[in-house]
This record gives sequence, C-alpha cells and structure tokens, in this order.
Amino acid sequence: MIKKLKKSELRQYEKQLLEEREKLIKELEYESGQISKTQLESSGDLSAYSNHMADQGTETERREITSQILSTRREALFEIDRALQKINSGKFGLCEKCGRSISKRRLKFVPQARHCIKCQNQTNP
Ligand SMILES: [Zn+2]
Repeated sequence: MIKKLKKSELRQYEKQLLEEREKLIKELEYESGQISKTQLESSGDLSAYSNHMADQGTETERREITSQILSTRREALFEIDRALQKINSGKFGLCEKCGRSISKRRLKFVPQARHCIKCQNQTNP
C-alpha cells in the first residue's frame, strides 16, 4: 500500500534530518579535532612518553575507537544526505527494495531508513 506523505509531513522529516545532520557534523568536527590533537601530542616529545608504555596501549585503543566512531558518523551522515535527496526527488518514505511505504512510526525514529521494516529484517536477519 502506498500512502503519499503530505507536504507538511515531508517538511517535518526534512527538518528532523537537517537537525540530525548538523549535530553529526559538529560531532565529527569535534572528534576529528580530538584525533589530530592526540597525534600532535604523541609526535612531540617522545621521551616524555617512554615511561608510560602501559598508557600507550590504551591511547592506541582510544584512537581506534574514535576513528571507528568517526566512520560510523560519516556513514550516518551519508544516509541522511541520501534521505534528503529522496525528499527532493519525491521518493522519501518509500522502501528502496519493495517500493512500499515505510511506516510513519519507523520514519519518526529513523527518517533516513531506506527500507521498510519487513525488508530490513530480511537484509539483517
Ligand atoms: Zn520493503
């Protein structure tokens, strides 16, 4: 069943997506800043760090986690951009697999969802 979304509803989702997008960009900027700060520190006076071998492991781990977070955020940003494009092309709210409407309850929580809940469950069992 295909129910067309009202213009006002689309605008609401668009607003939600844009807010989310802005939040993500800010977080990305902050975390990228954190990474380069850490790199700057460790490329500095190395002798100061040689006594802290134990800490280095944790530091590497922390950096790995941060870069993981960064890539997750970049992916999320990509999905949001996609959803915004779909709003413009009039395909927003339709499942990319079966073409049916994605439930409003789902869109409310995941406006960038590509698939309806049924197809989503099939893709990720
Ligand atoms: Zn579907």
